[in-house]
Amino acid sequence: MADLIKSPEPKKGKKTKRIMDRKSDIRGLSYEELEKIIIREGLPLYRARQIYSWLYLKKVDCFRQMSNVPSDLINRLESLFQLTALDCMKKMESKDGSLKFLFKLNDGHFVESVLIPSKKRNTICISTQIGCPWHCLFCASGKDGFTRNLKAGEIVGQLISVQQITGKQVNNIVFMGMGEPLNNYFRLMKAIGIINDERGINIGARRMTISTCGIIPGIKRLAENPLQVELSVSLHAADDKTRTFLMPVNRQFPIKKLIAACRQYTEKKNRQITFEYLMLKGINDSKEQAKKLCSLISDFKSKVNLIIYNPIPNLGNNSFILFPSEEAAVLSFQRVLKKSYIPVTVRYSKGQDIAAACGQLRRQFSNRIS
Ligand code: SF4
Repeated sequence: MADLIKSPEPKKGKKTKRIMDRKSDIRGLSYEELEKIIIREGLPLYRARQIYSWLYLKKVDCFRQMSNVPSDLINRLESLFQLTALDCMKKMESKDGSLKFLFKLNDGHFVESVLIPSKKRNTICISTQIGCPWHCLFCASGKDGFTRNLKAGEIVGQLISVQQITGKQVNNIVFMGMGEPLNNYFRLMKAIGIINDERGINIGARRMTISTCGIIPGIKRLAENPLQVELSVSLHAADDKTRTFLMPVNRQFPIKKLIAACRQYTEKKNRQITFEYLMLKGINDSKEQAKKLCSLISDFKSKVNLIIYNPIPNLGNNSFILFPSEEAAVLSFQRVLKKSYIPVTVRYSKGQDIAAACGQLRRQFSNRIS
């Protein structure tokens, strides 16, 4: 405890700001890590539980609000960690009720989150990277390339901030905002562990979905992980030529190998995979494509979400290529899948009027301030 009392208070000013920036985010700590720190400091273990509860149940954004934690321990925590709410730069509400948030991180970069409230549940889409390395033709996130992976605390922080700002209890999470979650595997899994921990946020693993563009090593790793999270794979085409055109990631992880990894995943985990399929007029919405899709996925546990494309501003020349499929084409595609007994739903993108697809708001905001 003597160690705690000796810790100096940080002085104010630029140097202090730099020191603060170097401190790790306490919201990125798992319960076990927090417990280790408490043991190292020679403190009783119940302090770990208290602090964990302040962080993830009461969701405080200042150490001084932890009213039952002694001040010398507060001082020590302040000297080791930072605890700040993400800076909400913009909040937009769609006519359909979905809400989009643009958060500024400590290093000045922006990240997006979307809340989709409904009668049954409140779903949040959380980002896992700043930018994205994969340059999908239909997505704004990859247009300016990849900047960095988000830390576990920044991933969890989006959930906490959205709940604080809206007062809504989130009970469903999709890791599908900006970035490719499986390219940030370990920090993502750490964030999922924190969100899942019943001593804190306590959202069940089955209420969390990882949405990937098809990173095969990540899918294989996830198959070995005992966590029962849901997996959804953005397929968007049933042949390599079309898929590579839409999603350059297909050059590295082509369809045949990707489908084999998905099949292994379902066998290993005894769980279904959801395939996302963006319906694009004249590109991937023919009956032939639908039949090819059936032949790829009909022999293992899967379902398909057909997504009506939401035209995106700021896509440059791609805006002149990509259009939503006609309703008749969507229905005919759906019929082919149903005939093969593949469960299929048609989804409309939420928040069209607030640029809710990933990366759009950040791009609009960055373009304005640059
Ligand atoms: S769709 Fe996903 S993987 Fe593709 S560029 Fe956008 S964020 Fe990246």
